[in-house]
Amino acid sequence: MNRILITGGAGFLGSHLCDSLLETGADVVCVDNFFSGYKDNIRHLFSHPYFELIRHDITHPLFLEVDKIYNLACPASPLHYQHNAIKTVKTSVMGTINMLGLAKRIKARILLASTSEIYGNPAVHPQQESYWGNVNPVGIRSCYDEGKRVAETLMMDYHRQNNVDTRIVRIFNTYGPRMAINDGRVVSNFIVQALRGEPVTVYGDGTQTRSFCYVSDLIDAFIMTMDKEGFTQPVNLGNSAESTILELAEKIIKLTKSSSKIIRKPLPSDDPVRRCPDISLAKEKLGWQPKIGLEEGLLKTIAYFRERLDLKKK
Ligand code: NAD
Ligand code: UDP
Repeated sequence: MNRILITGGAGFLGSHLCDSLLETGADVVCVDNFFSGYKDNIRHLFSHPYFELIRHDITHPLFLEVDKIYNLACPASPLHYQHNAIKTVKTSVMGTINMLGLAKRIKARILLASTSEIYGNPAVHPQQESYWGNVNPVGIRSCYDEGKRVAETLMMDYHRQNNVDTRIVRIFNTYGPRMAINDGRVVSNFIVQALRGEPVTVYGDGTQTRSFCYVSDLIDAFIMTMDKEGFTQPVNLGNSAESTILELAEKIIKLTKSSSKIIRKPLPSDDPVRRCPDISLAKEKLGWQPKIGLEEGLLKTIAYFRERLDLKKK
């Protein structure tokens, strides 16, 4: 039996991972404290015979028996991770120590959901795994960036010192259905604003760039990384098609056929200027590359939010 623990399994990415792993016939235990995740994301799985939900905070130890651990628990939106910055650090550091301790004791393979944020405001473009980053250690994003950097350090040290079988994926901006309406990240914000006919809020002049990956592509890569033998080095996962935030706003207004206007809001401090993954390593080692383009992925995501917002009105 393939018994799998997913921390943060009620969140945006975690809930899609629960779906995909159950489809492979795995026995899935979802752990979540519902800080930024929702039962609605996994409600359709409650009657599945191989799905279990445990309400638990990973900053506290957890004892169970599984073969693999996907450690995704951590708020990912700047709005959410800055809401309780100390808790964010604790989740990445104490939470990862707890999950690594569990992995060590039960000899499970463990994957950490790390982030492109470990590169900070990158001085190298596009970002390769060999780049060490340019991170402000004392800014408002540090709780997340530095927390994940320590989590990566812990993964490598448990691997070197205790022979734990580790995987590290550095995820670049990923979007899709089941992002929360109030998530605060750019794709969901712009789609919700455009569908409601509200002003679309571009922070700064909108020339900053991000590279957006559709959720199904990312989940495929998670599973491929986990299942690849001996693949302990960190790997970038994302879509390398780069776009400015202003271009994204214009595209979403067009695709939603919205009458919304773009307005400017102040750029938050330490907001990275450019971000784009070099995914050569994932291509070479996993034979993976994203299949869903931005327009196709946005249309699927818009359809999801259209339904969610209509349902809310009723
Ligand atoms: P999300 O906020 O939707 O999901 C995170 C989940 O973790 C939520 O269900 C939340 O309730 C849970 N959680 C938070 N703290 C917890 C704790 N202490 N104990 C137990 N559960 C806890 O975010 P997401 O986009 O699904 O991100 C999942 C993971 O992927 C995160 O680790 C995030 O850092 C990483 N990541 C995501 C992206 C992206 O673009 N989506 C990019 C980079 C990294
Ligand atoms: N952003 C924006 N308007 C919004 C939300 C975000 O212009 O309503 C910008 C934000 O300043 C950043 C980019 O979009 O430059 C991506 O932001 P997000 O919070 O999605 O992710 P991250 O900054 O962590 O990549």
